[in-house]
Amino acid sequence: MGKPEEMEATIAAIATPPGRGGIGIIRISGIKAKEILRTIFRPRRATSDFKSHRLYYGWIVDPQGNIELDEVLAVFMAAPATYTREDVVEIHCHGSYILLQNILHLILTLGVRLADPGEFTKRAFLNGRIDLTRAEAVLDVIGAKTSTGLRLAIPQLHGELFQRMEALRQTLIEVRAIFEVAIDFPDDEQEILAVSALTDRLRQEVEEPVSELIIACEQGRIFREGISLVILGRPNVGKSSLLNTLLQEERAIVTSVPGTTRDTIEEYFTIKGVPVRLIDTAGIREPSEAIEEIGIRKARERLFTADAVLLVLDASAPLTLEDQEIMAMMGEKPVLLVINKMDLVDRVEPGHYARLFPGKPFVCISVKENQGITALEEALFELVVGREKAFEPPSSIAPNFRHQVALTNALAAIRAVRAGLLVGLTPDLLAIDLQAALDHLGDIVGETTPEDILKQIFSQFCLGK
Ligand code: GDP
Repeated sequence: MGKPEEMEATIAAIATPPGRGGIGIIRISGIKAKEILRTIFRPRRATSDFKSHRLYYGWIVDPQGNIELDEVLAVFMAAPATYTREDVVEIHCHGSYILLQNILHLILTLGVRLADPGEFTKRAFLNGRIDLTRAEAVLDVIGAKTSTGLRLAIPQLHGELFQRMEALRQTLIEVRAIFEVAIDFPDDEQEILAVSALTDRLRQEVEEPVSELIIACEQGRIFREGISLVILGRPNVGKSSLLNTLLQEERAIVTSVPGTTRDTIEEYFTIKGVPVRLIDTAGIREPSEAIEEIGIRKARERLFTADAVLLVLDASAPLTLEDQEIMAMMGEKPVLLVINKMDLVDRVEPGHYARLFPGKPFVCISVKENQGITALEEALFELVVGREKAFEPPSSIAPNFRHQVALTNALAAIRAVRAGLLVGLTPDLLAIDLQAALDHLGDIVGETTPEDILKQIFSQFCLGK
């Protein structure tokens, strides 16, 4: 059987982000890569062939009309020692987006297809260079918003999660072999299964490590995706001022990311290394977009997607109906009451807010005088991350949500096997649950993963990756 059609094409894309830069890189992968290089690249020193993994200096020339497009460095990398395991060419041009597009266009006229987002990495996966967890780690590395997020992605890129899955699967395959022997020799079933040893083994070698990974998923999510936070409050209580203060102090590397679902802007800052994603701050920043104007509906929408809420109140003014209406919308959402403008009042009677909003944590601040901001951050951290003494990010790897679902399913199947062993189920029935567990773990590394899930994963990549 040949390759699937989509894998036969030679693909190309600009691999560097749009905008100006010192260099910009075009990447080509597939059978025609070298031929393309020969056609459009004129090395300074004439060469009969390009050596693999060697950088050549020269010019990109449009063969029609012999027009020089740019002075570049180019490299040909022969399969299989490449990112995609196919022949790969990279052209390092000057970092002008127009120039890069011109060169890409030239390449696309030579029988090469524009790569889909993530297609290079998808080929690396389909050609067996990396498993699915490593492909996902590529995404995590590119998208890391904090150094902790990055630190968690690197071991996964290195294959640590893959290796752990392989170890679990190996144990299960061995257990399956035991079941198979027991099926073949029903008279010796008891002896072969050795129930108590086998259940101990399943618990120690599979259930416990899987449970630990599931916990790491939850912690990892916080570090990977950040806490999503919304600042609510009626007009003029100081929301934009607070937002600016938080961003000034701890603004994260990623400053604004156009939202995918709606036309929203997200801003990031960090508290104690945890990325905090402020939802739809664009709205808050517009003074005209006060709560009554954006309407309760929009506030509710923002609330829905948030992990936590900062509800800002004005210490210098009595509580209004509107404050209370917003408060009533919170439901079970973790909310921190932020009593702002403390500089305008002598003091707040602590019992006052505690009585008004029983059980809700609150902090008193003055954005204007920069008072209480650290306390606010501490309280927010405690609210979202929990009260545990010292919240530590997972020590090495942090599986993602997709992994978490598969691990949870695998765990349930293994527990069913263990319970089945204890009540004396026949080995052919035990084998069914065992196979289910194996399949769930197989989904994680991409062995049994359905095509639509693969598509969804690779579509999250940017062009050229
Ligand atoms: P928003 O409508 O909730 O976003 O409120 P703004 O951040 O635009 O603030 C409304 C007004 O309150 C502005 O004039 C701010 O300068 C002022 N303000 C914000 N925080 C404080 C504070 O802590 N103390 C005092 N005195 N004024 C503040």
